[in-house]
Amino acid sequence: MLRSHTCGELRIEQAGTEVVLTGWVQRVRDKGALMWIDLRDRYGITQLTFEEGKSDPHVMETARKLGREFVIQAKGVVVERYSKNDKIPTGDIELNVTELEVLNASNTPPFVIENDTDGGEDLRMKYRYLDLRRNEVREKLELRSKLAIAVRNYLADLNFIEVETPVLIKSTPEGARDFVVPSRINPGQFYALPQSPQTFKQLLMVSGLDRYFQIVKCFRDEDLRADRQPEFTQIDCEMSFVKREDVLETFEGMTRHLFKSIKGIEFGTFPQITYAEAMEKYGSDKPDIRFGMEFKNLNEETQNKGFNVFDQAELVVGICAKGCAEYTRKQLDALTDFVRRPQIGAKGLVYVKCNADGTFKSSVDKFYSQEDLKAWAEKAGAEVGDLILVLSGAQNTVRKQMNELRLHMGNELGLRKSNDYKPLWVIDFPLLEWDEEIERYHAMHHPFTAPLKEDMSKLDSAPGEVRANAYDLVINGVEIGGGSIRIHDRDMQKLMFKHLGFTDEEAKAQFGFLMDAFEYGAPPHGGVAFGFDRLCAMFGGSETIRDYIAFPKNTSGRDVMIDSPSPVNNDQLKELGIKLS
Ligand code: ASP
Repeated sequence: MLRSHTCGELRIEQAGTEVVLTGWVQRVRDKGALMWIDLRDRYGITQLTFEEGKSDPHVMETARKLGREFVIQAKGVVVERYSKNDKIPTGDIELNVTELEVLNASNTPPFVIENDTDGGEDLRMKYRYLDLRRNEVREKLELRSKLAIAVRNYLADLNFIEVETPVLIKSTPEGARDFVVPSRINPGQFYALPQSPQTFKQLLMVSGLDRYFQIVKCFRDEDLRADRQPEFTQIDCEMSFVKREDVLETFEGMTRHLFKSIKGIEFGTFPQITYAEAMEKYGSDKPDIRFGMEFKNLNEETQNKGFNVFDQAELVVGICAKGCAEYTRKQLDALTDFVRRPQIGAKGLVYVKCNADGTFKSSVDKFYSQEDLKAWAEKAGAEVGDLILVLSGAQNTVRKQMNELRLHMGNELGLRKSNDYKPLWVIDFPLLEWDEEIERYHAMHHPFTAPLKEDMSKLDSAPGEVRANAYDLVINGVEIGGGSIRIHDRDMQKLMFKHLGFTDEEAKAQFGFLMDAFEYGAPPHGGVAFGFDRLCAMFGGSETIRDYIAFPKNTSGRDVMIDSPSPVNNDQLKELGIKLS
């Protein structure tokens, strides 16, 4: 190595020893007779000192020419500092430099590479390799690496085999849009990049691999939303001879292990909630259970008192905001404005204040007596000092709106603390979801998911009511993972494709290989995939997955550093048999 130590490692115990350090010049302070340099590498910062008269004039001269981000090698003697810096681990010592070599010069960087930087987001993305020199940014990648290694070790200990599945696969119409790759040697034909290795991992079960995992890149050409990346990473897993509980137990174990080993947090058994219950209590299939504020159905308590809005509503639902009875007019108006925003779309908000003197004050006093409101409060679990917020309308719509309001109130009341983690499993998702646009059902999870046995008979009569043997792991309102027990029977898989609107020919052309495989002794199997980027962000206490990806794309799907995507030249297109119109 060109160094004897790293910049983060020297302590007072090494005083008097001669060492060689390498790294980047973070800062130069030149006071004429005295000069200090903060030398940085991945491991920390060590202060180098130079003194007129004491240091070699040659060394002094070289030091004077250094600028930010020069790469240097410095030999010297470790000495105790006169004025110590208790903010850094090496703050008790400094290095009196005796030899200095410039290993590489640097242009002045476009932004300051320190914890506090003056660089804006765009600039830092363009020079991502420089931003990665900053502690805060690098630490996120270190966390990611730690998590990946912990996952590998945990699963390897349980006999999981890591297998790489292909990246050039076949385009299928299910799910999101595929990224396609033209094949030069098969003109007019295309590969697709995998949205997930789903069918391959199932085939590996047919192969008898029994337990598979892969930390794998997946690609989805979706319209970009705030924190979506066109390429992202999954911890993808599959197991044979399992029932749902076996999969949940295994991956609950993994999640528990990760939290314990990396964050020192221990959990009891994760609660399980059905999709139906999650929708009823929280209006969301990924409820944030760091706080209660569960929905209470007020249909019965609100009908036939002359208030048309409630009388005509399919669902009248309330939540209780503890200790908010003192909300001012202005605060209540702000809540009304919140639910009326076009993204939420409620027409209005009804409130009931449970006053300190035991009376109630509501925005619908004209229609409801104190007795009526008391009944609401009882149903909503509201006590003196609380505020009940009520929305009404069509069931699905109003649940969605109330979910937004509940999360908003959770934020307002500081109930969604980033260092508080509350995992849960959501189970029994619907198998099929009606797609208004194409006027047919599509698979809510994916077409390989097995229906619950007891619901199978409804596949023809009431397909929308059939529940799937599918599950999601949700932590703090974020979907961290999802999976299912799979269909492993050809006829069942065929039937499923039929329900999804595939003709036999289409099913055969697209998934014939899987159905064929099911005829050669496919074991019962199931699995799960975790969103690895999201898991990293969650462990880092952040909501932005982009920060946990070494070289992410921006919100327009562009890599601004390498400037991609970009046009290719005509010859290349010609070779690929592609004509641009
Ligand atoms: N392949 C699925 C997905 O990407 C996960 C699974 O079912 O294992 O969502």
